[in-house]
Amino acid sequence: MAGVVVSNLVKTYPSGNRRATDDVTLEVADGEFLVLVGPSGCGKTTLLRMVAGLETPDSGTVTIGGRDVTGLPARERGLSMVFQSYAIFPHLKVRQNIGFGLTMRKVGSQEWESRVQKAAELLDLTDYLDRYPAQLSGGQRQRVAVARAIVVDADVLLMDEPLSNLDALLRMQFRAELKKIVARLGTTTLYVTHDQAEAMSLGDRVAVMRDGRIAQLGTPMDVYDRPGEKFVGSFLGAPPMNFFTAAVRQEGSGVRLRVGDEELAGPDRLARWSGRDVLVGLRAENIEVSATAEEGWQSAEVEVAEPTGAAVLLTVRWGPHELKVQAGPGFAAKPGDRVWLRGPVTALRFYDPETSLALP
Ligand code: ATP
Repeated sequence: MAGVVVSNLVKTYPSGNRRATDDVTLEVADGEFLVLVGPSGCGKTTLLRMVAGLETPDSGTVTIGGRDVTGLPARERGLSMVFQSYAIFPHLKVRQNIGFGLTMRKVGSQEWESRVQKAAELLDLTDYLDRYPAQLSGGQRQRVAVARAIVVDADVLLMDEPLSNLDALLRMQFRAELKKIVARLGTTTLYVTHDQAEAMSLGDRVAVMRDGRIAQLGTPMDVYDRPGEKFVGSFLGAPPMNFFTAAVRQEGSGVRLRVGDEELAGPDRLARWSGRDVLVGLRAENIEVSATAEEGWQSAEVEVAEPTGAAVLLTVRWGPHELKVQAGPGFAAKPGDRVWLRGPVTALRFYDPETSLALP
């Protein structure tokens, strides 16, 4: 068992004016791929470095496989790392780069060779073993860094933005490969990225961080579909979740939401918010859109239409609000056109306008 448990980790840098991590508690299950994601400066790298043993926490503990490693140096923690600046050695051939950790561990030559071969095969590097890093593409170099990390067969793999040096296409291709490889190895993995699409794609679970804390932890679909706070809905997804304010009113046995001059049906559970405002969240792809008038739908004006190939992303003006709406790929619309919208009540998410937290 090599789960990672982080308990109440606090870290303030000497020159920092606030906590880089603020009482973070997190459990990565044995064999799980957990992604830390959040905007720049939210503390994800600091958290990873404390797990690695490269940074000392002010307080709190780290256990790996049930063993308290808080006071241990990095090399005694049984983990392997891949960093953004993947730091492969320019003067060593790919073969020696991949086998570096095995050399350090004084692994016998036969085993050394077979493990390097296996890692090279896994990362499609067999044909490049005798090249120097300078003779490789950026993507191949990145593979070497990953091969070097997995070859040692550590209990835990830590990765900090390992794909950030790749262009968008390579990044996406390698992302899927990495997912396949790590799933095959079954290694417990803690992975840092600021890229929400990467987080969603890779993680068994995703921890969304903000200001040194974990704002929400869940499966990719959990955090995407049911953001626990407004920030999570705004951070995850392209486009981000739409938000607008609505006044809640109970009418007979139903609930109505007034948004500007418009009215929508609300869920019954909002009845206790009657007479107050709530913040409503709604994803662009959950809004139905029609080019012709539909009874009971909302009328809006197209401001921008952006075909993405797989869809058409509309920016529309609905009363005082600007909304992002995802229409089908063939949807023809130009600025100034009128469209009709419907947001199914089951797709609406509700937040306390003061705390920005999801309403139960
Ligand atoms: P990024 O995505 O930009 O790398 P991050 O989420 O990984 O950001 P951290 O690097 O963990 O964030 O930084 C968290 C906070 O700690 C930031 O406010 C940062 O300025 C501060 N910080 C990080 N390293 C140091 C350091 N060595 N000295 C002082 N402050 C630091």
